[in-house]
Amino acid sequence: MKHLSVRYVSELDFREKLGAIMNEYRSRSYKSILFHIYSGVLDEELLVNISRRISEHFGTDQVIGSISAGEIKNGRLMDRGVLISVMMFEKADVRVHRFTHVGGKEEEVGREVARLADSLPHCKALELMLPGTNLHTRQLFEEISKCRQDIQVFGGYAGGHSMESSEHFVFDMGGLYDDMMFLVTYAGEDFHISVDKSVGWQTLGVPFKVTKADENRLITVDGRPAVELYEKYMQIEADEHFAEETFEFPLMAELEGEELLRHTISVDEDGTLVLAGYVTEGMNIYLCYGAPADIVKKVDARLLDVCDFRPEAILLYSCSVRKSFWEDFVNIEMMPFQQIAETAGFHTWGEVNRDKNNGNVLEYNITLMSIAMREGPAENRKKVHVHVDDSVLKGQASLIKRLTKLVYATTTELHKAYNDLSKMNNKLKEMAERDGLTKLYNRRTIEQKITECFESVGSIGTSSLMMLDIDYFKKVNDTYGHDIGDKTLRAIADLMNEEVGGIEGACVGRWGGEEFMLLLPAVDGEQALKIAEKLRRRIEEHSFEGAGRITASLGVVSFDSAGDGKDIYVKVDDALYEAKRKGRNRIVKAEC
Ligand code: GH3
Ligand code: MG
Ligand code: MG
Repeated sequence: MKHLSVRYVSELDFREKLGAIMNEYRSRSYKSILFHIYSGVLDEELLVNISRRISEHFGTDQVIGSISAGEIKNGRLMDRGVLISVMMFEKADVRVHRFTHVGGKEEEVGREVARLADSLPHCKALELMLPGTNLHTRQLFEEISKCRQDIQVFGGYAGGHSMESSEHFVFDMGGLYDDMMFLVTYAGEDFHISVDKSVGWQTLGVPFKVTKADENRLITVDGRPAVELYEKYMQIEADEHFAEETFEFPLMAELEGEELLRHTISVDEDGTLVLAGYVTEGMNIYLCYGAPADIVKKVDARLLDVCDFRPEAILLYSCSVRKSFWEDFVNIEMMPFQQIAETAGFHTWGEVNRDKNNGNVLEYNITLMSIAMREGPAENRKKVHVHVDDSVLKGQASLIKRLTKLVYATTTELHKAYNDLSKMNNKLKEMAERDGLTKLYNRRTIEQKITECFESVGSIGTSSLMMLDIDYFKKVNDTYGHDIGDKTLRAIADLMNEEVGGIEGACVGRWGGEEFMLLLPAVDGEQALKIAEKLRRRIEEHSFEGAGRITASLGVVSFDSAGDGKDIYVKVDDALYEAKRKGRNRIVKAEC
């Protein structure tokens, strides 16, 4: 295959360049041709004209364009220009498909894309060129994810230079579109493609929970307006500079083990953050920061793979946030790719990639996507060794390096403190709720559970309460000692838990000494008596370590209206007393 990239400068120059491309095209019998146009100028007439000229000259409609936030030619940023990339394939079958009016029928379009991919022999990859953030791409991608798992998926979202502007268009000879999607299918037995993304941003501090979100709108985090994340932790105020100030500190959302970076496009008056990508409720999110050394490391790792792959052509789809982050140094992470093969691409408003582990097609931000292509075996090509030359960063980056190191170290400590604190909190909660000896609920907690049950009995239905007291327990202490007494109490607690553990909502508490309460929500009197009898017999038949045989007496009461809570305690206590009086090791049910 052959990859050429040319910059549109003037009409005259363009005519000459088209001629040169045509010469190459005719010099061999290429099977497919594909033109990508990446434009940093939003001039409909010019872009339609360029697209039409190419289309007519080559007699093809395989011309697709995207507005870009920076064009990448030969591994360098070519700002605010028009870049044309031409790929000619000797054997691969590369086809452009157009989906018009995608808005509102994302799911249907996704299904169609998956069907197309699956029906195409030797389909290796799908490229999606999308018009920015207006489409519900989550639904689209969910459907596309169902296509054959070995098909790679990549792409980019169109968007111009300005953070605020809505320059999210794709285009071709027919005009600019804000709800058209271009799909390119790459197929061929001897066509090979390697797609991957490099990120490198690091998380900062503890995770937060997304408590309210709607697609790409992050509404609340831990129950507070999302903007407070930045106001509180970064001292970034919600003013007109918000988007620029926050892109160095994007958010990272966790989704099924994937780390999705999200940068903010704008902030609403109610504190909602509008992100360049969706988030969902329940996700953990972190604040992140970019450290040059870590970012370079990730790109270097990818370069090793691309060198190994020995491509003939490379597309680079890099997030516009990386461009803003690197500023004057943006080329250092792109130039090495040009040493491997002819490179073209653009700065995007979102990158599309398929997760290699679970096959999900997802939208990413802040990644550098490198798409390496080749026809024929790798052995035919010479292998080069390249890496990012970051020597220009050495002097000026040392301060950043040290500060990020400091942030990393304190973050790690913070994480540890946070984890210790959560563990401690759980322990404290347990101590406040549970009885130390038996680990059953303590009196305060079981009383609270009983009160809650009273309050909801109207909706859950007749419920029951049982009070259990060990018979002649004093003797156990007197005969075998206090330690055996304690052991016996724990054993009784286990027996009670085992007996009612499977009943939904049931709870057991220690009322005091050797007295216990068993609450059985939505269990009527008849069932409660059966449960009590099983428990009584179980205790009677159990051989208690060190103490032998023991029995217990139970009082049972049922209730079906909120009534007077105290009355219930008196009733169950009276019933228990009655059981004792009648000779112990028995159950008495209170009359209601
Ligand atoms: P009854 O059949 O009438 O209930 O007789 P009883 O001996 O079980 O009742 P009593 O109320 O006279 O005695 C209860 C005993 O429970 C007294 C106390 O020593 C013992 N006890 C209370 N709490 C604990 C404890 O935490 N550990 C131990 N080992 N014994 C306890
Ligand atoms: Mg007793
Ligand atoms: Mg007692």
